Order: sequence, then structure tokens, then C-alpha cells
Amino acid sequence: MLCPTCSSPNIQKLDLFWKALPAESPLRGKYAPPAEVASQALIALVATLAGIGVMVSGAVLLGLLVAVGGMVFGAVNHAGVERYRGELADWAAAKLCLACEGLF
Ligand SMILES: [Zn+2]
Repeated sequence: MLCPTCSSPNIQKLDLFWKALPAESPLRGKYAPPAEVASQALIALVATLAGIGVMVSGAVLLGLLVAVGGMVFGAVNHAGVERYRGELADWAAAKLCLACEGLF
């Protein structure tokens, strides 16, 4: 396999290259994997259930607001986690050209 930019055969997998870098290397930041997005599904579930609880107790509008807020938060967080997984998979599959520093 050759680099598509400069046709160099000097290619390495990005994740292996990054893991082999010394801790003080400035390249660690440049080629680091995407920042992890933690799943907050439990918080979203608790908020949704709390909202339903408030709704049942009589404060319908407030409960609805909290429940919908919990669901929206859960959906946004879920989308963030999915995006992170995709980015991490891309990062793990990326290859680095050691001649021109191109990623592909
Ligand atoms: Zn290259």
C-alpha cells in the first residue's frame, strides 16, 4: 500500500503509531483519538421518570416539561455517543504516512 498523496510506502496505522509515541511527544496531542463522550442514559432516564412522577402528582405542565427535557437530553447525549463511536472507529482505521504526515 502506498500513500495516496506522496506515493511513499512508509505507512503506519495511526492508532499503533500514537500508542508507540513517548508520553512527552508533542505529536500525542496532534494525533490523539477523539475525546470520549460518556453515556448519560441513566441521568436521562431518571429525569424522565421524575418528570412522569411530578406529572402524576398533579403538576402536569411542570412534570411534562421535566419528562420531555429528560428525553431530549437523552436523545442529544445518545447522538453524541454515537458520533464519538464513529469518530473513534475512523481514528482506529486511519493510516498515517510517515513521509508527508498525511492521514487517510
Ligand atoms: Zn505521504
